[in-house]
Amino acid sequence: MSDKAARAAWLREALEQASREYYVLDRPSLSDAEYDALFRELRDLERTYPELRTADSPTLRIGAEVGESHLAKYAHLVPMGSLSNAFNDEELEDWAASGRDVAGADFDASGFCCELKIDGASMSLTYKNGVLITGATRGNGSVGEDVTANVRTIRDIPLRLAGKGWPPLIEIRGEVYMTFDGFEAMNVERAKAGEPVFANPRNSAAGALRQKDPSVTAKRPLRFFGYAYAVPGVASLPFNTQWELLDTLARWGVPVAPHRARCATLADVHAWAHALETTHRASLAFAIDGGVVKVNVLATQAELGSTAGGREPRWAIARKFAPDVAETRLVNIEIQVGRTGVLTPRAVLEPVEIGGTTVTYATLHNFDLIAEKDLRIGDVVQVKRAGEVIPQVLGPVPDKRDAANPPVPFRAPKKCPECGTAVVRLAGEVAIRCPNDRCPARHLEELIHFTARGAMDIRGLSEQRVRQLLEAGLISDPATLYSLTEDVLAALPRLGDKSAQQLVAAIDASKSQPLSRLLFGLGIPDVGEETAKLLARRFGTANELAAATSDDIEGIHGIGPSIASSVTAWFADAENRALVKALARHGVNMTEPRRAESEGALLGKKIVITGTLPTLGRTEAKELAEGAGGKVTDSVSKNTDFLVVGADAGSKLDKAHALGVEVIDEAELLRRIGR
Ligand code: AMP
Ligand code: ZN
Repeated sequence: MSDKAARAAWLREALEQASREYYVLDRPSLSDAEYDALFRELRDLERTYPELRTADSPTLRIGAEVGESHLAKYAHLVPMGSLSNAFNDEELEDWAASGRDVAGADFDASGFCCELKIDGASMSLTYKNGVLITGATRGNGSVGEDVTANVRTIRDIPLRLAGKGWPPLIEIRGEVYMTFDGFEAMNVERAKAGEPVFANPRNSAAGALRQKDPSVTAKRPLRFFGYAYAVPGVASLPFNTQWELLDTLARWGVPVAPHRARCATLADVHAWAHALETTHRASLAFAIDGGVVKVNVLATQAELGSTAGGREPRWAIARKFAPDVAETRLVNIEIQVGRTGVLTPRAVLEPVEIGGTTVTYATLHNFDLIAEKDLRIGDVVQVKRAGEVIPQVLGPVPDKRDAANPPVPFRAPKKCPECGTAVVRLAGEVAIRCPNDRCPARHLEELIHFTARGAMDIRGLSEQRVRQLLEAGLISDPATLYSLTEDVLAALPRLGDKSAQQLVAAIDASKSQPLSRLLFGLGIPDVGEETAKLLARRFGTANELAAATSDDIEGIHGIGPSIASSVTAWFADAENRALVKALARHGVNMTEPRRAESEGALLGKKIVITGTLPTLGRTEAKELAEGAGGKVTDSVSKNTDFLVVGADAGSKLDKAHALGVEVIDEAELLRRIGR
């Protein structure tokens, strides 16, 4: 593996682990800022080296997972962006300085419109001739989920715009949120009914929006604030500034958040932000995670445009609150081993309240940092928690060391805590890893991947259940799943006869999954769902694939040398081959009907691809389209047959809309070429 590939793999793992800790285990380890920095690094790497993209990359997770839901997709008429952050006055000044580089004196000329940053779920409402026709989540920015039926249940949201002057087609953007009171009352009701209570208003708002049944959504206390609009193409609007826009939204019957302010200078903005943080915040009936500062005149906003990626406007920035810091004692440093064997240290703290949340765990980044900061177990440490997020240890408070009861220096482990193998450190990496491919700590991840929806899809085998089976010593690698019997399972705590029976049936049923799912499930590096299908359909059986050379594999459209060598390397490994053999012995299907690449499906079609596609790299997408007879060009014209859009799409999407060129997403492209 090249350095870049290794780094990407490390980033993927670190990000996924952080998400799992945050969302699943409810014991976050990275701060938002750390998560963002790693995320951006991975995204940039993948942009520069599209071959490093994998189907399980956390960069595909921006917003909701568009691909995997019961909700229909909705392509936003104009993409929905995000905001960059300023955590203090200086960072806000930096933002202004770069704005002035682009727009000169115009940047400050009209002053700033300052608003609350509502901590909810972003929402785009499409009104046609004044009537609400669609409500959609942000999704990946270009394509969200259609939640219209649910949105219609939100009493705050006008089904028909009031007043007049609205363009015939407009998207009104804003935030769906819950008030603290509504949230609490809902939880009281749920507790009474014996239902689980929700953790915070934001997540429950987002969850309520995505309900299958709108009558469930209707029972949740959802509210809405509008703050932006988007109109495809050119339209004359009845306002020239952000401030007037908000006034106009209010006139149209759209709720607008309180405490907005027009500030003539950046100094005024600073004062507003401080007042918001120290005074207004406490009096609000709903959660905010800061303020948003916007250049007031819309023409200047247009002049400023967006940053290179197209995601973040230069004319607006989130002014986040200063992080909250507290002191507490470092009780222990735990070590966790991830799927690729990376060892991560984590601080166990004496529980401490920071910004309204009790914090027990915090991230320690890596072992170097522990040494650099001379962090010792038993130290009093400073812990930071910025806004909604994952706490981190800033460092020890050496003055508070107790001479009579000195803290104990911590040494990075020499051995893997799970399997005892001596750890290694790759050149140029801070991470320490367990090099043992068979380390038990890795089995969990391996099994979870194997049983997942896109892979063998074994229903009823949740992460907890896999953990339980592993701990009971009943399974290790994926092949061992197929030895499980009803009797053995039924003897486990929390698992009755009925579930045992269902589980065995589900495992049994997975034996007939096609080869492509098995290949994906095996977790061969770089082999995502699409690549697995290409391989299975070309080679037809696992044996033929195992016998293939890199050249044979590279012969497939859409597969490059790095994937090819990763596949041959995987099959060259004796233990991997043994695993495949064991699976075959258990009767797991190892075949899939061969299928010629769908030559000609796009014969003669002129295609343009723009933005970051969810699973395919740019080259990969181009090769697939060309393999099916299409012609991929760079710019959209009226001769273009269709535009394939991904996240961060820019002017090409606008142009396609303007010219009436058909716009499709990656899934549709794959469908058209028969995948
Ligand atoms: P982030 O998700 O942290 O990148 O912040 C961007 C998000 O802030 C947007 O997608 C909106 O959903 C949300 N937001 C909340 N209030 C506002 C506001 N007044 N103006 C713009 N965006 C806002
Ligand atoms: Zn190990």
